[in-house]
Amino acid sequence: MATFIYPTVKRVTSGFRTKERPTHNGVDYAQPGYHKIKAVAGGKVTRSYNSDSYGQCIMIEHTVNGETWESVYAHLRNGSRKVKSGDHVKQGQVIGVMGDTGRSFGQHLHFELHKGGNWNINKTHAVDPEKYLGKNLVAVNLKVDGKWGVKTTSALQEVLGTVVDGEISDQIRNAITEAFYGNTIKFGSGKKGSLVIKALQQLIGARVDGLLGPETIGKLQKYLGTTHDKVLSRPSEVVKELQRRLNKGNL
Ligand SMILES: [Zn+2]
Repeated sequence: MATFIYPTVKRVTSGFRTKERPTHNGVDYAQPGYHKIKAVAGGKVTRSYNSDSYGQCIMIEHTVNGETWESVYAHLRNGSRKVKSGDHVKQGQVIGVMGDTGRSFGQHLHFELHKGGNWNINKTHAVDPEKYLGKNLVAVNLKVDGKWGVKTTSALQEVLGTVVDGEISDQIRNAITEAFYGNTIKFGSGKKGSLVIKALQQLIGARVDGLLGPETIGKLQKYLGTTHDKVLSRPSEVVKELQRRLNKGNL
């Protein structure tokens, strides 16, 4: 789960402040056809308007780790803007359609990301979106030891946006212990699963029951591209990879 998701197709046709275009303060994403434009993170729409240069344009302000960011979506298709100034949007919410309005030569999305402040005419806060999109910006520094302990759980909770207490319920702790030894895990009826495991299951496309059974471990191994044996050995390769991915911010 990324702090900022991609607003549309990932095909870059012009990068951020390149040699050829040193004053290009954003990235152009383009592909023929009909492409929805999505809010890269939840936030508040600061502008939704038509400008000579940006064409049909939307700007959204975000707060991440207490810092102000602003995302800019330009050259949207005429009549496709779905939000107005002051609206609150969710991450992934469709706000318009890729277009060719304003000072544009061919259909594309001109996307800007501003860090540590709002958009301004001099683009003093502009950063290269490619460095931030699709990544998680929560700083994590785990020891890659393949042991699923409190720190790994806390990092996972932080990244997945659940309660951060480093705790997984007892049955989950038992499940992990059992899973380390490859046993089949049985749970008593009526027990609720762990919130962080549920969030993880949602991410990896496993059945969402909050229980870390062989099926979930298998899906996690598939998701992380490790050996697919549905077992957490000790130290576990899949947990090592999970820790690496949490550290890199690209779970
Ligand atoms: Zn551009």
